[in-house]
Order: sequence, then structure tokens, then C-alpha cells
Amino acid sequence: MKRVKLLGYEIDNFDFEGAVQYAHELMTNNKVNQVVTINPEMFTTAQKDKEFSEILKSAEMVIPDGIGVKVGLKIMGENVARIAGIDFARRMIDVAAKESLPVALIGAKPEIIEKAVSNLKSEVENLNIVYSHDGYFDNWDEIMEDLKQVSPKLILVALGSPKQEKFIYEAKHLLNPALMIGVGGSFDVWSGVVERAPEIYQKLGLEWLYRTIKQPERFKRIFPALPLFVLKVLRYRIGGKEC
Ligand code: UDP
Repeated sequence: MKRVKLLGYEIDNFDFEGAVQYAHELMTNNKVNQVVTINPEMFTTAQKDKEFSEILKSAEMVIPDGIGVKVGLKIMGENVARIAGIDFARRMIDVAAKESLPVALIGAKPEIIEKAVSNLKSEVENLNIVYSHDGYFDNWDEIMEDLKQVSPKLILVALGSPKQEKFIYEAKHLLNPALMIGVGGSFDVWSGVVERAPEIYQKLGLEWLYRTIKQPERFKRIFPALPLFVLKVLRYRIGGKEC
């Protein structure tokens, strides 16, 4: 495995299959392991949120999700494959099912999680979903207790960022061994309620643009983040320091 550095954070450089293979090791190595699918917005959040910054640094696996991270690493002289978190998480579900490992899904609105679970069950042979819960709960302890009871080996958490990364970090100290992945809006897509960007957008790394066109309210959040991120990396590259 090769880790590369971007703005002081380490990112794993795998191709898709390599990432799946490594995650499989993490799913079966008797520890709770955290996977972060990192994007430019997370760097911005980490700058203001020390706890989140530490979580990013302590994650067992960090994969480059957004195109911004790929571009940022390119500026730093590193060529990495972009791995879409949603595709990666979906493949890990297949891997878990193939090995009859129990799976849990936490997050999204109640009707969304219900639909996502039922779609996945009909799509994936032998899938054993032992626990699912919507993402609108206040009592984290209750969910942790539930998870402890059923001991899933793969836990997907869709609470948006940084909440999902914080939830997973807390779980690391409480749960039985498992692989935990923060999956953002994946359940919305798997439920069929939110449409995934067409393949051409995915290939060009422009899913963010498609989502912004479809949900203009995201514009304020996504748009300044991307160019600002690229600028920040350029400044870092030239100045050789974190900013
Ligand atoms: N979400 C949740 N609980 C919360 C906040 C968000 O379950 O308290 C869910 C939301 O319903 C959505 C997912 O988190 O399914 C991710 O939201 P978003 O698309 O904003 O996240 P992103 O992937 O852009 O970080």
C-alpha cells in the first residue's frame, strides 16, 4: 500500500480492486476499522474542526472520493485513481454477502433506509442485513448498544459529514470488530429516490456538477469549495506549508 499526502493528510493510493482487497482485510482483522471517503469539503471542515481533523488522521483507510482530491494530488505530483465511495461501499456489500458476513446500515430518512434495504436484499444474493436504522436519532448510545448486540462485520453509516465520521470514530472504542464506512448520500441513491449522475458525468469526475444542477441548493456548499480547494493546494505547493 502507498499512502500519499495532501495538505497534511494521508490518503491511500489504490486502484479499485486494491482498495476492495485491503478493505476486506480490514473487515476480518479483529479490530474496528474506519474508512473515510475524502472530498474537498472535508478538508475545509477539518480546518475549523480539530476533532474532525484528528479523526481524518487516525482513519485506517482514506480513499480519494471527489475529483477535487484527485486534482489536488495531481498538483502535488501524485497520480491516484479516484474511487467513488458509493461504488466502493456497494462492492463491499457484495463481498460481505459472498462470505455470509452480517451487515448493518445506519442513516438517511426512515422511508429511504427502508427502501434501500429492500432493494439491496432483492439485488444481492445471500445478503444478511442484521440491523438498519434511519439517521435521525439523538441517542447515539442506544444505536451503539443495538450494534453491539448484533455484531455486524460491515457497517455503513450515512449521516452526512462530519457527523458520520464522528459516529464511526466513537464506535471504534465501543463495538466488536467491524469495518465501518461513511457513505454520505449513498442510501438515497440505493433507495431509488435520488438519481445517480449519468455515466458520462461519473467518468469525467463531474458528479458534483450534476448534483448541483439537480439540487441547486447545494451550489452554495459545493461550488466555492472546489476552486478554493484547488487554490489552497496550489498555495501549499508553492509555499510548502499548510494553510
Ligand atoms: N442524514 C442523516 N442524519 C442527519 C443528517 C443527514 O441521516 O442528521 C443523511 C441524509 O438524509 C442523507 C445523508 O445523510 O441521506 C447524506 O447527506 P448529504 O447528501 O448531505 O451528504 P454528503 O454525501 O453530501 O456529505
